Amino acid sequence: MGKIKMTTPLVEMDGDEMTRILWKMIKDELILPFIDLKTEYYDLGLKYRNETDDKVTLDSAEATKKYGVAVKCATITPNAARMNEYDLKEMWKSPNGTIRAALDGTVFRTPIKVKGIEPCVKNWEKPITLARHAYGDVYKNTEIKVPGAGRAELVFTGVDGKEIRKTIHEFTGSGVIQGIHNTDKSITSFAKSCFAYALDTKQDLWFATKDTISKVYDHNFKDIFQEVYDNEFKDKFEEAGIEYFYTLIDDAVARIMRSKGGIIWACKNYDGDVMSDMVSSACGSLAMMTSVLVSPDGVYEYEAAHGTVQRHYYKHLKGEETSTNSVATIFAWTGALRKRGELDNLLELIEFTDKLENATLKTIESGKMTKDLSLMTTLDDVTILNSEDFIKAIRQNLESM
Ligand code: NAP
Ligand code: MG
Repeated sequence: MGKIKMTTPLVEMDGDEMTRILWKMIKDELILPFIDLKTEYYDLGLKYRNETDDKVTLDSAEATKKYGVAVKCATITPNAARMNEYDLKEMWKSPNGTIRAALDGTVFRTPIKVKGIEPCVKNWEKPITLARHAYGDVYKNTEIKVPGAGRAELVFTGVDGKEIRKTIHEFTGSGVIQGIHNTDKSITSFAKSCFAYALDTKQDLWFATKDTISKVYDHNFKDIFQEVYDNEFKDKFEEAGIEYFYTLIDDAVARIMRSKGGIIWACKNYDGDVMSDMVSSACGSLAMMTSVLVSPDGVYEYEAAHGTVQRHYYKHLKGEETSTNSVATIFAWTGALRKRGELDNLLELIEFTDKLENATLKTIESGKMTKDLSLMTTLDDVTILNSEDFIKAIRQNLESM
């Protein structure tokens, strides 16, 4: 049989450390033997980012805008230790942050469900996808430690010099104050990405804030979501048979715990920070979590939710055996290839991605898994495989399909 053909290149963003090792194994064993792979390759490994003064990251983001779909390997975000390790010219910014800013996108994270790795919330039959607004609020705050009695005021000065002024509090003693903000532009992009992704994956979208208490700030989020929905998505949602549901954040939390899953939960920045940790830890591990960045105009970048697994990489460098879980990285490839297939009308390619995902899950369900999964599985008969043998076991299942 001939290999599956592609028409448009996929933007391929290579990365660092253990995930870079897995990247090559996945391509060699699970992709290249079956697909006549067309990619535009960008090396986002830290060494090359440093050589190009990080221009390669921006170039890869531009290519993603041009072609519409990218697949990204995990990358190092430099810190002080990395400055020495890689002899860096500068402490380059997080590539994920750079790409997210360039695409103005929102990240959607979904646990990968497999028999034998059960969520601790028993009624979550289907995965819950979490979308976190990644701009502003308490993450871009200004704070003052109030030393003693005095008046705290909130002041906005327009470009025309006009002032809006409100009293926050008349302090009689020491305390604290905090100023936070968000922009209509960012909230609108967030809303559009959420509605577009709900439509794309045919799932209901939930959004929640505390608008009963925050009658201006949170209410603005609620209003913008409603406006975007009414103007651009209402008809499409009705046609697809899916729902947009707004409620209060505390009500949303209570409902989520009792739900069957299978929904997209859009969260403000802080809620998303907290709730994504809750959903992901209830479902196993970051190695069993997909992550996709979606821009408001429908550009997609698929990746794994975990980092470069540095500790395993150092073992690998010493020639020791590793048992690193490649599932999230495999699903980044299948997600991206499926999207490419959908956009280019390549049925064979779409079918292949379904098969590869099934082969991966079947491998785990048959008891063959990496060490991290063996520690949390409910299966009895388990064989722990090393990084390479796990991928080879998946290939065997894939070929038999
Ligand atoms: P990490 O790569 O997520 O790994 C932390 C620990 O989680 C590992 O040591 C391992 O635990 C476990 N783990 C994560 N992924 C695993 C997998 N696929 N299979 C098995 N175990 C897995 O985080 P890190 O080591 O703290 O960070 C390393 C680098 O990743 C940092 O430079 C950071 O900047 C970067 N990072 C990148 C991204 C991204 O590109 N999206 C995201 C986060 C972090 P055990 O050691 O106990 O086995
Ligand atoms: Mg967090």
